Amino acid sequence: MHQHRLILLSLLTMSLFTHCSSPEKSASTLDSSDYYTMEDFQRVKKIDAHVHLWKEFDTLFLTQAAVDNFSLVNVSVYSSPNRTVESQDEFSLVLKDRYPGELAFISSFSLEGFNDAGWTERTLYYLRSIIDKGAIGVKVWKNIGLELKNESDEFVMIDDPAFEPIMTLLTEKNITLLGHLGEPKNTWLPIEEMTVKGDRDYFTENPKYHMYLHPEFPDYDAQIAARDRLLELNPRLTFVGAHLGSLEWSVDELAKRLDSYPNMTVDLAERISHLQHQAVTDWQRVHDFLINYQDRIIYGTDLRTSASDITEKGLSSSDEIMGHAHEIWLRHWQFFVTGEEMEVPKVTGKFKGMQLPASVVDKIYRTNALKSYPRLNH
Ligand SMILES: [Zn+2]
Repeated sequence: MHQHRLILLSLLTMSLFTHCSSPEKSASTLDSSDYYTMEDFQRVKKIDAHVHLWKEFDTLFLTQAAVDNFSLVNVSVYSSPNRTVESQDEFSLVLKDRYPGELAFISSFSLEGFNDAGWTERTLYYLRSIIDKGAIGVKVWKNIGLELKNESDEFVMIDDPAFEPIMTLLTEKNITLLGHLGEPKNTWLPIEEMTVKGDRDYFTENPKYHMYLHPEFPDYDAQIAARDRLLELNPRLTFVGAHLGSLEWSVDELAKRLDSYPNMTVDLAERISHLQHQAVTDWQRVHDFLINYQDRIIYGTDLRTSASDITEKGLSSSDEIMGHAHEIWLRHWQFFVTGEEMEVPKVTGKFKGMQLPASVVDKIYRTNALKSYPRLNH
């Protein structure tokens, strides 16, 4: 055990984003030294591959990340013309210089003027330049499928030919597409039928995105089908499905997609509660999924200072914000690493931690991100 730990410790001194792999053992030969404990949390090098830092205040997450041994991937998003992709990327570039090796970033692109003749050229020009500056990926958001319309006033889905030149560029440059496409299935249900509290709160606050109230929008199945067609059309594109690929409600449904599309991995951002919800009634099924798809799952939180769990509690001081990040990261670690019985604010009922072997935890918390974002190393 001590030797194993020593090897790990020596690897820890390498740059946060460099590759390392530990020897694998079959499940039957695992002993207690092959599992992490709560005490290992700060010692093990980890990546949170989905956060949103938009302003100076948000760098408190980076301060806490240094304490908790996380490096972060900051994700730009085009959600409104008021917060431009350019300004988000500029901030990431500043932080990347200030925190070398501790922060990488994913860019995005504007949908303003989507129906104008020059949109494609403008977008490709911007993406080429931001990739040259170090973006490791490009994010698309749910407004594709749920908001954007073409000249004929029809919803534009992600498999629309207008996006093909972008997919070609990303494939050629080996840049990953991070897709938050569609929404949790709960979005299409009445509030009282939603499975987790996080969704009940979010859609109460954001009725604009509560699709149960908007039957005229493309439905859940249409969102998933468009994403699936994108993957069929672009088998060489490296794709990360944000938020468990919007298949958070069923590990079996998610497994089917991962089987069908070898170029797809998923991140866990803001959807760990859905795994916990499934674990309340079927722990084994969730555990089997994490073991079987251990190479296809990336840890991420969606941490942002504007999140409802921060604003509702009125957290505002530096200590409170850093404490919040620490608490979230530590609670997830408890879920994946230990077999302890747990209760969390977003989930109704008790469930047991997944107690994954350390080799699997290392993949989810680090090496899968390095594989799915090849530029994370550079
Ligand atoms: Zn996000």
